[in-house]
Amino acid sequence: MKQFADAIVAGASGPELEAMPIPESFRAAYVRRDEQTMFEGSASADKDPREAVHIGEVATPELAPDEVYVAVMASAINFNTVWTSIFEPMPTFGFLDRLGRESRWGARHALDYHVLGSDASAVVLRCGSAVRNWRPGDRVVIHCNYVDDQDPAAHEDSMKASNQRIWGFESNFGGLADLSIVKANQLMPKPAHLSWEESAVNALCAATSYRMLVGDNAARMKQGDSVLIWGATGGLGGYACQLVLNGGGVPIGVVSSADKAELLGQLGVEHTIDRGAEGYRFWSDPHTQDEREWRRFGKKVRSLIGDDPDIVFEHPGRSTMGASVFVTKRGGKIVTCAATSGYMIEYDNRHLWMRLKQILSSHFANYAEAWAMNRLIDQGRIQPILSKTFTLDETGLAAWQVHHNLHEGKLGVLCLADEPGQGITDHEKRERIGEDRITLFARHAASLEAASSDIGNAAAG
Ligand code: NAP
Repeated sequence: MKQFADAIVAGASGPELEAMPIPESFRAAYVRRDEQTMFEGSASADKDPREAVHIGEVATPELAPDEVYVAVMASAINFNTVWTSIFEPMPTFGFLDRLGRESRWGARHALDYHVLGSDASAVVLRCGSAVRNWRPGDRVVIHCNYVDDQDPAAHEDSMKASNQRIWGFESNFGGLADLSIVKANQLMPKPAHLSWEESAVNALCAATSYRMLVGDNAARMKQGDSVLIWGATGGLGGYACQLVLNGGGVPIGVVSSADKAELLGQLGVEHTIDRGAEGYRFWSDPHTQDEREWRRFGKKVRSLIGDDPDIVFEHPGRSTMGASVFVTKRGGKIVTCAATSGYMIEYDNRHLWMRLKQILSSHFANYAEAWAMNRLIDQGRIQPILSKTFTLDETGLAAWQVHHNLHEGKLGVLCLADEPGQGITDHEKRERIGEDRITLFARHAASLEAASSDIGNAAAG
């Protein structure tokens, strides 16, 4: 793949890339089937992605007619990278085996290794015989909705198709690699003003937040709506805050430290709650929630915006759902897409039904929603929230940082791009949108790192 990397950097044309041979193997980050029980009996926090993620050569699969080979320039860590690499809530090999039973093409995925990664920026190298809209040489970003268009439900909303999957999580050959195979209907144009790593980190989290808040399928935020956002500087939350601001709403961002609250201020979020400093204890023990703490939290929200939130943007799950249902405005909406802290949820149903609130479910995004979100990024209305960039060899370390909530925004991973900052082709547009806005999360992470090394040096001195 090194030859492809050199050719892309040298500006090779599509026909030139197409004339180059696809290698028989490529470098990838993967977990192994024979290690899927390695953490059995360990507490979740002790399961270490650095032990489970391997970097090595894997065989190149055959290309199906509706697929393309892409040279992956950069990828990203998502929380599903964490789930796969700690084998929770279940090993992902079951998903691959199920896909393997579907068809001859599905059988390629049921292997003894699982290549991770559900985001990427890339260059198209080859197109299958049924691909119409893309050509070798196209610079793309990849969304992770792996759609079955033979299910009638997919034609209403592809997320409703019975065997809809998430690429790189429920399918093999994900983006944390030098090469990937993806369906042509996962491709979107790469924003020309962004680097490979800035454009690689957005699709999964940004499109998920878009569907939750903006698209036709979930909360459908209106101008002026107030939206309480958990994990407001995290992967989902960092895009949710921007979507609310961009759509004329009022975000209230919940974070767990003063540093993160400061970052929210720089993002333009006026109302922030530092859950660490406030010390909320919604659960007084593992089985009992404390309604007084929900009230204390609700009072805090009212003290900031003078009202209860129209929408609560939920994903922590068991820890927060009781509080989320409680604080939502009468007639308001709780939109949920995840349950990081536990999926067996408890809330007081009286607060839901008597106050006419709705809980709405959401999961990733259909192609149209992902495309609409990519357009907002391309227009410079929504910025990438890349905070740090790792090499492919450091995938396990990066996933470990996300597992332990040591990050802000998104962590990028360089695959064929050998250094950060490459891949920008429209510098004038970048200048117009503003370097400061595009690099806000990266600059904040760098300033935190500089401050902590100053403290370290002072302590050592
Ligand atoms: P992330 O980057 O780790 O951000 C999540 C943030 O949530 C954390 O930074 C943390 O922020 C906050 N948080 C974590 N545990 C919490 C708790 N117990 N109580 C309150 N806040 C808590 O992860 P992400 O990418 O945003 O993903 C979040 C979840 O959504 C994951 O479970 C992921 O698998 C899921 N997800 C689902 C979809 C989908 O399509 N269904 C798509 C993307 C992600 P503070 O510490 O600052 O509060």
